[in-house]
Amino acid sequence: MQVSKSNKLANVCYDIRGPVLKHAKRLEEEGHRILKLNIGNPAPFGFEAPEEILQDVIRNLPTAQGYSDSKGLFSARKAVMQYYQQKQVEGIGIEDIYLGNGVSELIVMCMQALLNNGDEVLIPAPDYPLWTASVSLAGGKPVHYLCDEQANWWPDLEDIKAKITPNTKAMVIINPNNPTGAVYSKEVLEGMVELARQHNLVLFSDEIYDKILYDGAIHISTASLAPDVLCLTFNGLSKSYRVAGFRSGWVAISGPKQKAQSYIEGIDILANMRLCANVPSQHAIQTALGGYQSINDLVLPNGRLLEQRNRAWELLNDIPGVSCVKPMGALYAFPKIDPKVCPIHNDEKFVLDLLLSEKLLIVQGTAFNWPWPDHFRVVTLPRVDDLEQAIGRIGSFLKSYHQ
Ligand code: PLP
Repeated sequence: MQVSKSNKLANVCYDIRGPVLKHAKRLEEEGHRILKLNIGNPAPFGFEAPEEILQDVIRNLPTAQGYSDSKGLFSARKAVMQYYQQKQVEGIGIEDIYLGNGVSELIVMCMQALLNNGDEVLIPAPDYPLWTASVSLAGGKPVHYLCDEQANWWPDLEDIKAKITPNTKAMVIINPNNPTGAVYSKEVLEGMVELARQHNLVLFSDEIYDKILYDGAIHISTASLAPDVLCLTFNGLSKSYRVAGFRSGWVAISGPKQKAQSYIEGIDILANMRLCANVPSQHAIQTALGGYQSINDLVLPNGRLLEQRNRAWELLNDIPGVSCVKPMGALYAFPKIDPKVCPIHNDEKFVLDLLLSEKLLIVQGTAFNWPWPDHFRVVTLPRVDDLEQAIGRIGSFLKSYHQ
């Protein structure tokens, strides 16, 4: 008897860990060394968490054996509350904060709690594909609005406006952005908030890279501009504190919560059903947010992340036919392959061909719901030597590549 996946998963896809990765694993099993520029996971690239975070988790382990409150430890949520006070967001109390097993779990929960079949959610293209997948899983319809490569990859407000319908329930903002590295200006954010205000949309603001900023870029929390709009702000420890494996994240709800009591009840039900987030990792939050912000050492001049971003960006632009907007934040670059120089019709095939030929793993642009097969994403986490090797291989591969 065949056992099939449920119909709920019919339109759900998450290609960052999709079919090409299986080929990479097979090649590794056969003994090949694969240069992996596919996943934004700092630890394998030699980034270490601040020592005080590790020590705090270890010290608290004996008292972290039981379940916690389903929203999370009071002390951790208090630290998150204070964080949003610093970020000029009004009206977030301890009870408005939910801790989760990474932002990922909370994104899925918050979509499940909100959407009925056919409800539409505006999501950037390109996006971090978990957003699209979570909307589809919850029975909603992802509607992608374009971000404009010619304008720093900022969202195209006219395109958003044109895509709002009576079924639109929410708008997703990913800032700083994965995969483009864009950091949005106050004006762009105000434009998005205004559309949400006019059309009664819930705002989901994914700010997991809010501390990974280059060249003096400034991050503004969407919620700080939207005290009158229901806004769910997502963040966590995976990137800025380099503990992706701890699975520690949070969502904070701001705006007119009294009008969203039923939705919040829905989130409570789902938070209760999964009992609580991993408790030892919750102990990392207060120390992370209140301690020395070592991420700054990595993104300021001479910092490792900044140097790698610079080198990756230069090398990508040096490849004939490839152009890349300078990432102002996050851990990625999202270059374009000029279709006139190297026409690519199937970018998943391109990525697979590159893997098989060069033993290098990147992710195709369409995996981020980019509508055309002319982009790819690399992570800027590898050391400069590895970036030079990897991007050099992309350049030499493209010279003779035809589809
Ligand atoms: N949101 C964005 C934009 C991401 O890039 C990622 C991970 O890459 C996540 C959320 C998931 O983060 P977490 O490790 O907290 O689940």
